[in-house]
Amino acid sequence: MTASVTMGLETRSLYKIFDGHRAVEEVSLQVPQGEFWCFLGPSGCGKTTLLRMIAGLEQPSSGRILIDSRDITAQPAHERNFGMVFQSLALFPHLNVEDNVAYALKLRGADRRIRQERVAELLELIRLPEVGKRRIDQLSGGQRQRVAIARALAQEPRLFLMDEPLSALDAKLRDHMQVELKQLQRALKITTVFVTHDQREAMTIADRIVVMSDGRVQQVGTPTEIYRRPANRFVANFIGQSNLLDVEIVGREAVRFGDIVIPVTDLPAELAAKKRVTLCIRPEDVTLTGPVAGRLSGDISFVRDLGSTVEVRVALGGQEVIASASPSHWSSLQSYARLGLQFSPEAATALSH
Ligand code: ATP
Repeated sequence: MTASVTMGLETRSLYKIFDGHRAVEEVSLQVPQGEFWCFLGPSGCGKTTLLRMIAGLEQPSSGRILIDSRDITAQPAHERNFGMVFQSLALFPHLNVEDNVAYALKLRGADRRIRQERVAELLELIRLPEVGKRRIDQLSGGQRQRVAIARALAQEPRLFLMDEPLSALDAKLRDHMQVELKQLQRALKITTVFVTHDQREAMTIADRIVVMSDGRVQQVGTPTEIYRRPANRFVANFIGQSNLLDVEIVGREAVRFGDIVIPVTDLPAELAAKKRVTLCIRPEDVTLTGPVAGRLSGDISFVRDLGSTVEVRVALGGQEVIASASPSHWSSLQSYARLGLQFSPEAATALSH
């Protein structure tokens, strides 16, 4: 028997319409208790609007929001007891770190001793026990970030909501904070939703990613599922690099590109019924060889040495296929002007054309 999973957050067919424009359309999500989810998509896809509806800062045009199976759609934001960290951080510059972190506890009327204990615990948790008496403007960007997180956690939120909280940090600090945030969330097991437009950040931090475009959910999955098995062309293009080959179907397990037949894994019935499909193949799944008759092959159009890998572009029937090769493999091929391309059937995902 499988144990039933408790849902920390649920949205049921949420819509938000601004002046006739659908910013969020039919979003139904089930976020299990304790998981870390990312809303990912390009600018304007509706991820902030979706988060703001969950936070209670924006009223849905229709649909429901549930926390621990309780409908909170009509509950005002201040009664939801959610921790929130947005890009601006909104720390109080005139208060010191301790007072910033204690703010929500004070509002709730917690007594002084409890406040002090809780603040000390949280500063320990964010690994800043020594800065309690400092003013906010005496902290680095990363320290401020951690204080904002501690302040949001002080009230023991049922849900932790973050909107691009790391985007103001430099690349190195941002990488570091992603790992810290993930570890902290794992330790505390608070259901978390994090908005970002940065696919690398989402891949690093999320248990599950919700990929959005034009207000709609395109795919929900683990970082590996989203990367290995994109649901459609939008996801394949938005997450990492991908080669999209337009091919003709010749059977359940074979397609044709020009006059070359390529074996593929069993095509899903709904795709096998079509004439053409798109194959998505990641650059690291393309194996380069010397040119072989009867196999895919093309002229080298561009080579870029990225240090740990070499990116090789090969012209194939009016488009470019990107392959990433190890430097040693590349050195055995670089005398060729034309290369053969191979990939295993399992590496290709068939997408609706
Ligand atoms: P970004 O990454 O740029 O913040 P986003 O994915 O978070 O983008 P939203 O801010 O949710 O996107 O906006 C989604 C759409 O809704 C956009 O077309 C935006 O212009 C529109 N929109 C957002 N808020 C409002 C508002 N208050 N009034 C009218 N339109 C709005």
